[in-house]
Amino acid sequence: MPLPHVVIVGGGFGGLSAARALRHAPVRVTLLDRRNHHLFQPLLYQVATATLSPGDIASPIRWVLRHQKNLQVLLVDVTRIDAGARQVVVTEGLPISYDFLILATGASHAYFGRDEWRPFAPGLKSLEDALDIRRRVLMAFERAEREADHDRRDMLLTFVIVGGGPTGVELAGTLAEMARRTLREEFRTIETSRTRIVLVEAGPTILASFPEKLRDRARAALQQKGVEVCERTAVTHIDERGVRLGDQPLAAATVVWAAGVAASPLVGTLGTPLDRAGRAIVEPDLSLPGHPEVFVVGDAASFSHQNARPLPGVAQVAMQGAVQAARNIVRRMAGEATRPFHYTDKGNMAIVGRGAAIADLGFLRFSGFPAWMVWIFLHIFMLIGFRNRLSVLMQWALSYLTMQRSVRLITVAPATHVEREIGE
Ligand SMILES: Cc1cc2nc3c(=O)[nH]c(=O)nc-3n(C[C@H](O)[C@H](O)[C@H](O)COP(=O)(O)OP(=O)(O)OC[C@H]3O[C@@H](n4cnc5c(N)ncnc54)[C@H](O)[C@@H]3O)c2cc1C
Repeated sequence: MPLPHVVIVGGGFGGLSAARALRHAPVRVTLLDRRNHHLFQPLLYQVATATLSPGDIASPIRWVLRHQKNLQVLLVDVTRIDAGARQVVVTEGLPISYDFLILATGASHAYFGRDEWRPFAPGLKSLEDALDIRRRVLMAFERAEREADHDRRDMLLTFVIVGGGPTGVELAGTLAEMARRTLREEFRTIETSRTRIVLVEAGPTILASFPEKLRDRARAALQQKGVEVCERTAVTHIDERGVRLGDQPLAAATVVWAAGVAASPLVGTLGTPLDRAGRAIVEPDLSLPGHPEVFVVGDAASFSHQNARPLPGVAQVAMQGAVQAARNIVRRMAGEATRPFHYTDKGNMAIVGRGAAIADLGFLRFSGFPAWMVWIFLHIFMLIGFRNRLSVLMQWALSYLTMQRSVRLITVAPATHVEREIGE
């Protein structure tokens, strides 16, 4: 009798963890992803700010799972799930049938219904996004250097980050360091230290998921680096001239979107209830209502059986959920009852810049240099592959000692560049 077929869609944190958890199970696993690489999203901002190369934070999925004999990796774009027929519909080739499905397709940007802002305010989700932002940032300084008009120069040296979550804070802090330290001596017309970095948050505070004391420290560290932190400030318009904060225009050549996320559109094709962010509302065991053979994990799932609010979109939720979904598949095959998912929160960290971070481990809260060191070693540990770990550690040590950002390359065709660097 053929082994049951488990299809996993997505080779991110959730998909990889699910695949690994099934390595000794009596199943045939097919992992589908439209990209050939697993991306370590928490370090994307370091590619966007020219510290790391794409190849440092991405690894080919095929290589990562090369030792898993019960698994095949296919590079395909999934367009639809036909849950009734138990099939995954792909752009090229025949639909793929499954006995069990794990959907781990993550999330993308959401512009709160203002999709026309997208071209002026790119989000940070993929390597292409990071290289696009890196190009925009570096080009703004280059254009400013040759700009004769004073107002235009100010506009080119104004950077707005929309969204005061961890990604917005990381970007703002690192951009401020880049302007004030890395680039300081390299330009003749402009004074890069006068660059404006404006971090805008519509809610009452930046880093809302952290305790007040840590938020205050992070805010103070940002301000010390020269970041203007605007809380309780809504962005009401974005175009090529900049942004409108409430009814005040702010001329800015570079705007980065770090505000909203929505689940991958594929989730909408399941035909089951979704929450406001488009995530599939899952049962306590992470399966879909009415489809015990389909599990949704990570950023694509809305799991609200543990707290009043759904679990956050972080890597640990995706990884732990994926392992539980895989175990539940094995239980179901053995005719046993599935078990509910319980998320173990291992803590929350955010980096503000060189030597500055905040850490909330529940039993221990700390900030500054010690938190930064913990953050560094945690991320090195979580990265996939010895080469990436060594390379990132060396790049960080170098940039810490010299303030240099080694990947300050302006590339004309970002997508081509990605392919070249990934293929290294
Ligand atoms: C800039 C940034 C910084 C972050 N920082 C942190 C952090 O510091 N700590 C933390 O815990 N979390 C952080 N996160 C969140 C964390 O990365 C996510 O929670 C995690 O990646 C979710 O895992 P996932 O498996 O659900 O989705 P993902 O890791 O996003 O993987 C989804 C996969 O599905 C594939 N896919 C999507 N649609 C299709 C399709 N139609 N067909 C085929 N394949 C498809 C994608 O190519 C991708 O490989 C950050 C996220 C971002 C964007």
